[in-house]
Amino acid sequence: MNVSSEDKFSPTQNILSLSEVSFIGEIWDKHRANADKVSDYYAQAGEGYFNRYAWRVKMCSEWLEFQLVSAKPEGILQFKLSDAKFCRVRHCPVCQWRRSLMWKAKAYKILPQVVTDHPKYRWLFVTLTVKNCQIEELRETLDWMNKAFKRLTELKVWPAKGWVKSIEVTKGRDGISAHPHLHILAMVQPSYFSHAYLSHSKWVALWQKCLRIDYEPVTHISVIAKHHDPKILIPEILKYQVKESDLIGDKEWFLELTRQLHKTRAIAVGGLLRHYMRELEEKNQDLIDESEETDEVESNHADLTVTESCNPKASNKVIRE
Ligand SMILES: [Zn+2]
Repeated sequence: MNVSSEDKFSPTQNILSLSEVSFIGEIWDKHRANADKVSDYYAQAGEGYFNRYAWRVKMCSEWLEFQLVSAKPEGILQFKLSDAKFCRVRHCPVCQWRRSLMWKAKAYKILPQVVTDHPKYRWLFVTLTVKNCQIEELRETLDWMNKAFKRLTELKVWPAKGWVKSIEVTKGRDGISAHPHLHILAMVQPSYFSHAYLSHSKWVALWQKCLRIDYEPVTHISVIAKHHDPKILIPEILKYQVKESDLIGDKEWFLELTRQLHKTRAIAVGGLLRHYMRELEEKNQDLIDESEETDEVESNHADLTVTESCNPKASNKVIRE
């Protein structure tokens, strides 16, 4: 990735890599390098629509335009993405990263309002799993898990009044299977702990019953301590659907993953939270708008700051080689 500032330099004489200009550049470079791998996998597949994906991912974020904007504390300038062209291919590492940033930013905006409106509610983090499946059976398995989850939410004992559910798929330890699991951030009334409490074994039994299986599925439940902010779980609940290292680890697994997850939904919102999420979902889902600092960079990272002497209106155009 190269940077040229047309204001001061001739682009051909003073080309810097983006990572030399800003710590954010390292993150871009990492995701972009993985996007090249994914693009090659699609290109090698020899299937019609994979060829189009290969081309789109190849061209993704070729052009990035940053502006220097004033950030807190006063007088410190930071790079902010102002224009870019994203391919929006689901498993493009760059777009997956941007999408995750967008969802997290939304959740960080929503949750304080939910907490203000429902101050007595408590928060649970639930992970529901099943045994690994073959990657070729992933779509069928997710369909079954989603149906089981719906049955769970329809039970009388289901304690959550609102929830966010995300699906994560990791590669099995054998390198060929898939491990799909559901992460759920759930809000429960305080009476859950006095009148409606579900022990771990009860959760396991309920999930088993809804799945209609003969084994006890692995299930994790944790409770956010009273007065602790549910925001701490946002990175966990809205992380990538498939880890980047799993995306780029094996071509065949990756191509089958693409086929299996085509047009499946990664995140769903239910109950009370639907009202809050829907409001934000109607807004422009622009992959440009979210700041990288939300995710992998501390906002006060020294490498991000530029002194006051820079022109705040200067636009740093970035062109990838
Ligand atoms: Zn992309």
